[in-house]
Amino acid sequence: MIPFIDLKSQFRALEPAIRERMDRVLSHGQFVMGPEIAELEGRLADYVGVRHCITASSGTDTLLVAMMALEIGRGDEVITTPFTFIATGEMIALLGATPVFVDIDPRSYNVDPAKIEEVIGPRTKAIMPVSLYGQCADMDAINAIGARHGLPVIEDAAQSFGATYKGRRSCGLSTVGSTSFFPSKPLGAYGDGGALFTDDDGLAKAMREIRVHGQDRRYHHPRIGINGRLDTLQAAILLAKLDRFDWEVARRKELGTLYSEKIREHCPGVLTPDIAPWNTSVYAQYTVQLDERDAVAANLNAVGIPTAVHYPVPLHAQPAFAAIECRRAELPIAESVACRVLSLPMGPDLTETDQDRVVKALAESIRDRKGRTS
Ligand SMILES: *Cc1c(COP(=O)(O)O)cnc(C)c1O
Repeated sequence: MIPFIDLKSQFRALEPAIRERMDRVLSHGQFVMGPEIAELEGRLADYVGVRHCITASSGTDTLLVAMMALEIGRGDEVITTPFTFIATGEMIALLGATPVFVDIDPRSYNVDPAKIEEVIGPRTKAIMPVSLYGQCADMDAINAIGARHGLPVIEDAAQSFGATYKGRRSCGLSTVGSTSFFPSKPLGAYGDGGALFTDDDGLAKAMREIRVHGQDRRYHHPRIGINGRLDTLQAAILLAKLDRFDWEVARRKELGTLYSEKIREHCPGVLTPDIAPWNTSVYAQYTVQLDERDAVAANLNAVGIPTAVHYPVPLHAQPAFAAIECRRAELPIAESVACRVLSLPMGPDLTETDQDRVVKALAESIRDRKGRTS
């Protein structure tokens, strides 16, 4: 079985550094908000190119903290995409606000900026695009709309840490950037984690306070917050992993490009990712579009090639959103691609031999299915 994401090879490559970093935490014993937290926040802020990084307990909690800091709540609306992981819409709903779903661009899978302005109304409080599969949404276009209407823009960059947009790094492209360190994300910890990025001093202060029970100093709480801290041990692991991250991002780009070349050559009818010329993708997922998706996935699985569907049900069609208020226009593109997308094994440690096996099995599955129907 080819691993869907090969975290074991990554661990082997980094094992001494990770163990040494973890040992240091076990020795100093500051498991909550130890010195590794500030060290990591400094390195991440430099990497992204913003003034402030605030680490947190997950990429879900970062979305929550960002929206709490922007005072989003009951009666407010947040514009977002229906084609994303549940957390994006879920945190809007958790705050009592209304997610307003806008359809996506069929080739980038990111929210279509041309459809945002028509749903802006008096209750709109923010725009929250997602940079899906490792490629940034069209942030300049979205920021321009935000600026015209006085709306903050939160980039849900859980899948795009390390990606660039017009030469600038994901997470540093709008009012706030939010990312996740879930183990399978481009920069993954060994447990849950996340981080927020901003150049806005006031917002940074609010997000720092909300992360720790809304306190500005010990046992003084000017606002309501959460327990949203990153564990020191996870920060230590991430610091060790950061030393290899540039290599991993470069390798992801190479493997993504190679995948597309090979699939275009050998797999007719399979749509490869469309990366805009101003973007570089980190391929958090390498996702293709094809007919008979479920049958092809079963064929691949039968020969030891795992696949995944990101995502089979758009948020507006999830039962969880049936019970609560959410506004939506027609969303035909999100609904159509949800039935057609398939993610293949990907990661910086995928070997080209394994990649060739994946492409060969995909080509054979397509040829067999074509043969049967013609
Ligand atoms: C993974 C993910 C999240 C949530 O991150 P967690 O760290 O798992 O809480 C949010 N949004 C998107 C688009 C994601 O892919």
